[in-house]
Amino acid sequence: MDADEQVFESLPLSQDSFQVLWDSLEPELNGFDHLFSFASDVSLPTDNLLTPAASTVPTTSDYPGENGFQLRFQKSGTAKSVTSTFSTVINKLYCQLAKTCPVEVLVEKEPPQGAILRATAVYKKTEHVAEVVRRCPHHQQEDGKAESVHLIRVEGSQRVQYMEDPNTKRQSVTLPYEPPQLGSAHTTLLLNFMCNSSCMGGMNRRPILAILTLETPEGQVLGRRCFEVRVCACPGRDRKIEEENVSKAQSGANPTKKRKSTPTPVPSVAQAKKIKFASSADEDEVFVLQVRGRERYETLKKINAGLELLEKSQVRSKREVAGEPSRGKRRCGDKSDEGTD
Ligand SMILES: [Zn+2]
Repeated sequence: MDADEQVFESLPLSQDSFQVLWDSLEPELNGFDHLFSFASDVSLPTDNLLTPAASTVPTTSDYPGENGFQLRFQKSGTAKSVTSTFSTVINKLYCQLAKTCPVEVLVEKEPPQGAILRATAVYKKTEHVAEVVRRCPHHQQEDGKAESVHLIRVEGSQRVQYMEDPNTKRQSVTLPYEPPQLGSAHTTLLLNFMCNSSCMGGMNRRPILAILTLETPEGQVLGRRCFEVRVCACPGRDRKIEEENVSKAQSGANPTKKRKSTPTPVPSVAQAKKIKFASSADEDEVFVLQVRGRERYETLKKINAGLELLEKSQVRSKREVAGEPSRGKRRCGDKSDEGTD
């Protein structure tokens, strides 16, 4: 086993990790049985798929090589109607399912005769990288062609080959490299992505990287370029949102976040341990959590509503014990009791 062969243990965001988080919360919270049973019923995207884990992880670093291998994407902007658009800021392609994504291939020096271009996909995150990227079961059945299991297809060439590595089971598509036509500086490759990023049983919302390599006929890599891919219904909108988030993060100007001491939107187990009700100075501070996927968002919303309820009831019972009159949660503009404790 050489250094390239790494075994990654997948860590699914499963009920187990939720259980750990849950157990670390305040003990009285665990009395909220209905909330807990609801939360444990939620099926988050997990890795319990039947796809075999590949032992060799493809390299995803850019390498122009001696041939000066480069990619370029057309400037498509972020209009609503756009079906494929590339963000140079994030190095990410946003496209619709099965729509044509033109990729311009440039070289400074022509590769040897018989060179090929290869496109493959790999999961971006370490916890998913060992799993082979395939189409979801639903889309695989769709057309019954030999390439129907492949996520990436190449259009417009009769010399395309769909391959699966017999050892790693990783899939790729190749076609002969063709020098640019007279008067052009590049050759254009037409890629299709045949599943949505959200496809259940397939990518399952896990981000992927596309790897394009220029290779000799014997398969020796001459150059490599990688970019992230999101296949979605509204490429223009999603690119715009993600670019805005990046620029917000870079400038630090996020008006919805009050503190810089909360770098991660999702609380870690350690942070979760610190959650206290009606006793912390942070109790009225508002935090913003970014959640991917409506289902998960709705779940977290319900949990939050449950915690709010619990807090209210605790505040009330404390005050009743202390002989204070019960009162509702402070409303906007009612600052009369600020700073007590
Ligand atoms: Zn699919």
